[in-house]
Amino acid sequence: MQTPAKKRLSKALKNRDGFAIVAELVGGPNFSFAPIQKFLTAFNAGGGKDIPAGFNFVGITNPQSPGGVANIEPSDVHRFLVSKNLLGDLDFIPHISCKDLNADALTSLLAAHRAAGVESVLALTGDKPAVSKGVFELESIGLLDKISRINNDAYLSAKPENLAAAKLFYAGAAVSPFKYNEESQMQQYFKMEKKVARGAKFLITQVGWDWKKSVELMRYLKENNINVPVLGNVYLLSTITPAPRLMHDIKLPGCFVSDELLAKVYSESLNEHIERAAQQIAMYKSIGAAGADVGGVHDYEMFIKILKRAAEIGSDWEKYKDNLCWPARRPFYLYDDAGNKTRLSDYPKTNAHRFFNFMHWSILDPEHKGFHAFKKVMKFFGVDKNKGFFYKSFFMLEKPMKYCLFDCEECGDCYLPENFGLCTIGGCEKGMDNAPCGDSTADGKCGNNLDRICIGDRIYKAAGSEKGGIEKLRKTINKPRIPALEHSASIPNYLFGRDHTMKNAIFNIGEAIHASIPKTGMVMKQLLELGDDCFSKDSPELQYILALIESQAADGADYIAVNIDQFGETDPALAVKLMKEYVKLVRKFGRGVPVCVDSSDDNVLIAGLKEWYDTSEKVQPPLVNSIKVYTMDNMMPLKKHYDFKFIGLLISEAKAATDTVDDLYNLAKTLYDAAMKHGFKAEEIFFDSTVFPLAIDMPMQPGVPGYTYRTFNTIKRIKTDPLLKNCHFSLGVTNSVRDLPARKIGVTRAYVEVAMRYGLDAGIVNAAHHLGNSPADPDLVKLVEAYADLDGSSEKLNVAMQLMGDFCSKNRKPSA
Ligand code: SF4
Ligand code: SF4
Repeated sequence: MQTPAKKRLSKALKNRDGFAIVAELVGGPNFSFAPIQKFLTAFNAGGGKDIPAGFNFVGITNPQSPGGVANIEPSDVHRFLVSKNLLGDLDFIPHISCKDLNADALTSLLAAHRAAGVESVLALTGDKPAVSKGVFELESIGLLDKISRINNDAYLSAKPENLAAAKLFYAGAAVSPFKYNEESQMQQYFKMEKKVARGAKFLITQVGWDWKKSVELMRYLKENNINVPVLGNVYLLSTITPAPRLMHDIKLPGCFVSDELLAKVYSESLNEHIERAAQQIAMYKSIGAAGADVGGVHDYEMFIKILKRAAEIGSDWEKYKDNLCWPARRPFYLYDDAGNKTRLSDYPKTNAHRFFNFMHWSILDPEHKGFHAFKKVMKFFGVDKNKGFFYKSFFMLEKPMKYCLFDCEECGDCYLPENFGLCTIGGCEKGMDNAPCGDSTADGKCGNNLDRICIGDRIYKAAGSEKGGIEKLRKTINKPRIPALEHSASIPNYLFGRDHTMKNAIFNIGEAIHASIPKTGMVMKQLLELGDDCFSKDSPELQYILALIESQAADGADYIAVNIDQFGETDPALAVKLMKEYVKLVRKFGRGVPVCVDSSDDNVLIAGLKEWYDTSEKVQPPLVNSIKVYTMDNMMPLKKHYDFKFIGLLISEAKAATDTVDDLYNLAKTLYDAAMKHGFKAEEIFFDSTVFPLAIDMPMQPGVPGYTYRTFNTIKRIKTDPLLKNCHFSLGVTNSVRDLPARKIGVTRAYVEVAMRYGLDAGIVNAAHHLGNSPADPDLVKLVEAYADLDGSSEKLNVAMQLMGDFCSKNRKPSA
């Protein structure tokens, strides 16, 4: 007998082949597989022939310790089902939650799932454990980000001809439209948007019995152009289990059952419970959901009965509106019955919020002089060293003060400013990086502790009291906190750049989207061959490019450079067209990181610059690479219409004018003078000089300095010049390690460390390497120093040659 082809949730949702149905199955008491086994045995006996037409039973989902009570792990359930050959053609969609596992353990779990052939996962924060201590090092957004990184790495490590075979996760997320106050509801929608921005490919709703809310969600998605398939959660609410009472009594946080619905359910027969579930499926099918996640049904016959009845109801679900509408008292709906948007509230600023803003402004806002004075005093007392008497004394003051004011729990990586003066560690039962979870009650309390208001609601109100605060809240995604900072003083961590606000040591101009990089160029070519719609139609090649963009943004690039000059060699018009397309991709997928339009052709630069601003969104000024003395009259006047910064390349058409440090300085001065006339500020200019590979930086004539010497001393000359000192200096540092036999990253790190001493503050780099942020290997630093000292004397030349010889012999690759 032939094994049936495996169904995939991803395929069903992408192709919309039928209304997708997934069954949510959980293990029984005492970690028993029996309920799942029984359901699937019955399914296999019928071979799925009893599924009504128009429905596509795609797979089963398996929650991870639902309700915070230990149950069989989904990975074990999967292994068991595969070993018993019970899954048949069904997909397996485990819930992955952050409650029991730290970030590394989640990575390992995902790796195990991938090895076992699992593709679709539901990424959740997870229920607060009923007895144990929750972990919550990540929450749903951090987890989705992790999954996106795993997917990006899968593309980036695949061979160009094998991109389609990259093993990827298809990650989904939860959303609850069933919140009945404005704060909780809007936070749910904002968080949903953030989940989609971090890679959620489908959404599953929370359980809820209010068709108006289900419609509201679909309308919100449409209104905001969020084109992500939704599975409606249809839970069989029946007295055959205690679930209705537990939900009503807030014993299953996040699930709402009103007094009226509870009374109704208790007055009904099982058939009436089944009927409501069927009506709800029909409703979701009619309002545009892509499918339903059917829960609370472990009897396969009953499952089929529900589906058949849903098929029978079809688009007539509106007849049953009353049976599907059980809201809270005084419910908040985002749209009125005519579909008009409800006016959202204005909130007053609280005194605590005012106090926080004032304190932050006076000593912790770098725009204000109080910050610099405070930092100086702290440094004077050695608090920056993170140890010693004064550090401990300061921590002794900080701890109780922040505890009293914010419920601080000393995470050490403080997000109070991002959260409008509220702490999501001490103020939240789960201690989440991005509040809220989905557990708030109908009146906005924490479902895990009814004595407190959900921190998400409090943040929404605080944001609403600030001008532009709600939009800021809607867009802000907090990174996972740095675990190593736990139980350290957060204020010194912030002042001295150790927390999440830490900046790159030099401006990182991400270099990965460059057509001359062999692999990137090959994928770009393959993408182009896919036809005119290749930049809008999904393909592994397009995903590869997006992976390059997203991973550089995630690695903290300050700019994402695009260079497609390789294509322009034979077809300059094509280069112009491609630059526009790539700039659009960076704008859309670069998480707000500005583009660096990089080309030696002014037409390509101009096309890229104009395209960057061809949007109604607010974007940051891009970087144009490059302007030369002989192109400045063409390029600089554009500043009047398009705000941009530029890299001033220190080369000249007349070769003789670039031989010495003085020559290069004069070129910089010429560019600077012209730039000032066109309204540039010094900080908007990045000078750049040629980087010569160390391996061949050996002057042939006596008395002539090396290229590295010349480059580094040009940086010094410019950065110590009173006129030019506020300009930046950037280098394409990767070139320095060309032809070295090994340790290229280490030598680049050393090169940057030494160049920084001369004043380097920017580089065209691999952003993942975080060059300049940590010390380089001292031996490699010595090697680079020798080249930086190569002033033309034979003595210095001997030292450099000796060190390079030692380096090469130590790092020679073994012969085969
Ligand atoms: S340091 Fe961490 S725990 Fe303390 S207030 Fe700030 S965010 Fe909260
Ligand atoms: S405070 Fe809000 S976000 Fe935190 S656990 Fe409670 S309901 Fe969830």
